[in-house]
Amino acid sequence: MSASYRDALRAALLYLLLSVIWLQASDYLLNSLFDHSVERMRWQLINGYVWMVLSAGLIFIARARRLRSRIGAKSRERSEDRERLQQAAAVFDCTREGVLVTDRNGLIVHVNRAFMEITGYQGEEVLGQRPNLFKSGRHSADFYQAMFATLDRLGEWSGEIWNRRKSGEIYPQWQTIRIIFDELGRRSHYVAVFSDISAIKHSEHELMHLAHHDPLTDLPNRLLFTDRVEQALASAQMHKRGCALLMVDLDHFKMINDSLGHTIGDQLLKAVAQRLQAMFGPGIALARLGGDEFAVLAESCPQLVQAAALAQRIIDGLKEPFPIDGQSLFINASIGISLFPSDALNAEQLLRNADSALFKAKSAGRDGYALYTEELTAHARQRVELAFELRRALEDQQLRVHYQPVHDFQTSRLVGVEALVRWEHPQRGLVSPAEFIPVAERTGLIADIDAWVMRQACQQMCQWRQAGVELSFVAVNVSSRLFARRELYQQVSQVLRETGLDPACLELEVTESAVMDDPEVALEQMHRLRELGVCLAIDDFGTGYSSLLRLKRLPVQKLKIDQGFVAGLPCDEDDSAIVRVIIALAQSMGMQVQAEGIEQVEQAAFLLEHGCHLGQGYWFGRPMPVGKLDWAHAPLIR
Ligand code: C2E
Ligand code: MG
Ligand code: MG
Repeated sequence: MSASYRDALRAALLYLLLSVIWLQASDYLLNSLFDHSVERMRWQLINGYVWMVLSAGLIFIARARRLRSRIGAKSRERSEDRERLQQAAAVFDCTREGVLVTDRNGLIVHVNRAFMEITGYQGEEVLGQRPNLFKSGRHSADFYQAMFATLDRLGEWSGEIWNRRKSGEIYPQWQTIRIIFDELGRRSHYVAVFSDISAIKHSEHELMHLAHHDPLTDLPNRLLFTDRVEQALASAQMHKRGCALLMVDLDHFKMINDSLGHTIGDQLLKAVAQRLQAMFGPGIALARLGGDEFAVLAESCPQLVQAAALAQRIIDGLKEPFPIDGQSLFINASIGISLFPSDALNAEQLLRNADSALFKAKSAGRDGYALYTEELTAHARQRVELAFELRRALEDQQLRVHYQPVHDFQTSRLVGVEALVRWEHPQRGLVSPAEFIPVAERTGLIADIDAWVMRQACQQMCQWRQAGVELSFVAVNVSSRLFARRELYQQVSQVLRETGLDPACLELEVTESAVMDDPEVALEQMHRLRELGVCLAIDDFGTGYSSLLRLKRLPVQKLKIDQGFVAGLPCDEDDSAIVRVIIALAQSMGMQVQAEGIEQVEQAAFLLEHGCHLGQGYWFGRPMPVGKLDWAHAPLIR
């Protein structure tokens, strides 16, 4: 029951009740006041009149009040409507979205201020026109057909649409079109609300570009390149074509960064990217995969010879100096080549195999290219197996430490030993560290191996000293992978603490590359180790690319001449000259010098003659297990 109906009912009941009360009261009064019937009738008549007048008055008052409240409601409604319209007009004008209204025939009847700002048209220029005035020509007829079909079906359509501004510029909009119906349910208007999304599109595009390109060279990055390789392989497969992937790595680029600074390094990378780009025509894609590593994809490369020729062209092309910051810089490159479909059938494999081939090119002395072959695959597989077995070897205690004596030629005394790890493989016998150390380094097992060797060597040295063997030092090799890590310091101090070995008796051998790869970190690490009191030696000296300036700053006590130079002594002039230079260098820097790989007495004689009196080699003794060491030349203290 509605409220107004309830009110009317309540009023009627009240009216009825009052009437009954009035009639009863008047009847009683008339009965008691008048005896004469004529008189009573007259009074009854007057009473009836009064009641009628009163009722009519009451009804009039009630109606007047209702009318007044209705008039009030109507005018309130009207002013609210006015307010609403004002608000809508303000929103319509202030909104940042463009608004366009057409009548049912599609003729523009209204546009707002944002519309004019976005499209560049003034209101009067478009009123009475059709919205196809803004068509960009980017969408097909099917697009508009689908749009109107949705609009008819749902009464609304939203989507991205490209339109044309008055200036002719095409831009993207996000648009919503809605049909407006009148009270009779007929279409009366179409309203389109849109925003200009060109800025969003632009940033989207920029983000996409950033995600897929290297910011320094603007070349495609690994993500985009892998995608391109996948597409190229799919197309090559379809057209029965061959592809080649070349992994190009700059040789010793780190040295440029270290010696000339990162700004010059960056400029060189940019220049290399530009030169490479200029070398290739269409069908060859170039990318920077990171650091100094570039990748080249030749989409049509039927044979190995073509891939090799391309690699040679790259190597030769980079030979020309790069003029940077007023100086000429030279850089070489090593290249690994992998072919589709002979070496790999998918992008990931192709990239991985090119990487293995690159490793081969680097190992073969850099500045050249290497091809991926089945042989390499077998080698890689072997390495994986080896890594698995090596993990078990550590747990099953299959590792051994052998010691190679170090002699002082002047006194003919054994002054120290170098600890060299061996793997006693249950099937293969003794495996050389040259074979498994690289695997251990790649798999991270080297940390455990080196820690174990160091502990064994220090314990052994303590036992020798307790037994009265007069040995000045035990040398332990530290992998370059560990050298830059801060744990090394903790590891060494812990081993020294636990074994109680005098730190001066422990010599740590680090390779030249470990020191030169990150000289600042190496320097800090070396100073900390020196504070512990241990000695530091640079192993295989002469094979790396030491900067003499840096070498001078290092707290190193010994240089170990690489056996490659010792092998040529005394006849090879180059080797002899190099060895003489290293000895002179060590002496001038106040370092000891020790030769390794001495196999003939003449080599020892040459070294002694030129001022190097420490050495190790088969001529003095091979690396041996503890029990087999010959102490004959090592006089006992007691
Ligand atoms: P290295 O530190 O330069 O060790 C010297 C290598 O030369 C040893 O090879 C030794 O057996 C060999 N050698 C010694 N005298 C002669 C000689 O007169 N002629 C010839 N031809 N060779 C000689 P080995 O034991 O095979 O070790 C190879 C390399 O493996 C070592 O070179 C060292 O870099 C690494 N290595 C060995 N043990 C460890 C270890 O415990 N940790 C780490 N990180 N590396 C190790
Ligand atoms: Mg060594
Ligand atoms: Mg060595």
